[in-house]
Amino acid sequence: MDVEPQKAIDERYMRRCLQLARNGRQHVKPNPMVGAVIVSADGRIIGEGYHLCCGGAHAEVNAFASVRPEDEQLLPGATVYVSLEPCSHWGKTPPCADLIVKKGVCRVVCGCIDPFAEVRGRGVRRIREAGIEVTVGVLEQECLALNRRFITVNTRRRPYILLKWAQTANGFMAAAGGRPLAVSTPFTRQLVHRLRADCDAILVGRGTLEADRPRLDVRHWSGPAPRRMVLTHQPDGVPEGFEACAGIDEALQQLYNDRCQSLLVEGGARTLQAFIDRGLWDEIRVETAPWVIDGSVPAPRVPAQARLADVQTFDGNRICRYERPDKG
Ligand SMILES: [Zn+2]
Repeated sequence: MDVEPQKAIDERYMRRCLQLARNGRQHVKPNPMVGAVIVSADGRIIGEGYHLCCGGAHAEVNAFASVRPEDEQLLPGATVYVSLEPCSHWGKTPPCADLIVKKGVCRVVCGCIDPFAEVRGRGVRRIREAGIEVTVGVLEQECLALNRRFITVNTRRRPYILLKWAQTANGFMAAAGGRPLAVSTPFTRQLVHRLRADCDAILVGRGTLEADRPRLDVRHWSGPAPRRMVLTHQPDGVPEGFEACAGIDEALQQLYNDRCQSLLVEGGARTLQAFIDRGLWDEIRVETAPWVIDGSVPAPRVPAQARLADVQTFDGNRICRYERPDKG
């Protein structure tokens, strides 16, 4: 029988780490999602864990805690797989790098380095200095993609920005005279509400607020309602529950200060274009109806460097999702 190459073995357990990490999606913010797996020398998973909620135990702690007493003796020959570099600083919990050293495993495999300023390579260094072999970069792209929002906040010092609009097949966002258009179908509207529930804040321009009177809530999906912001120099007349911000920079700084990880910009065209012109976007979602109209308000243009990540069609409406390329 052929011996499975180490790379394939490492990827298999890292995939399990990613699967575990996603269980934390709703509650770990503003922390990253992390999963960890402990594998004995004979290839058996003896411990698993993930970061469940902010302030709670980290993935590595939960994985070690799940090892049965009779398996503790296997730890000196075991490998710890973890989707993100173990932490090395005292946060709400003691450093995981120290825990790994104390438990005395023989190898550690990390998906990617933690870009968080207080970690960034220090966790790996501490474990190596204790004489434990460390491999970094297994399924690195998947591990980085899992925490795109967390990484954007920590490297760009602003929230992850999603731009979203809906347009007709000939590229209009409004009917003649600027009247609002119903491009979404009942199902795609539900998808929008799911997207909102997954974002920390929503922002619109004053014009959109006045023309469409959007509620910007998540009534067609379950989940927390995001914070609602409106760009305006005139806070008078802004409905209750909406925060007035004088400009984009002010809004982004406020969200960053409050540790909000993601912002959904829902319009209108001028506001969306302002974000695009300044390169302030990480993801763009465009829903295009199959019909044309003699409309007004042309939709913004998707920037040339945007990478088409995903296309789906529902009820005839095409939803394209674009991502910012890694460099740029
Ligand atoms: Zn930790």
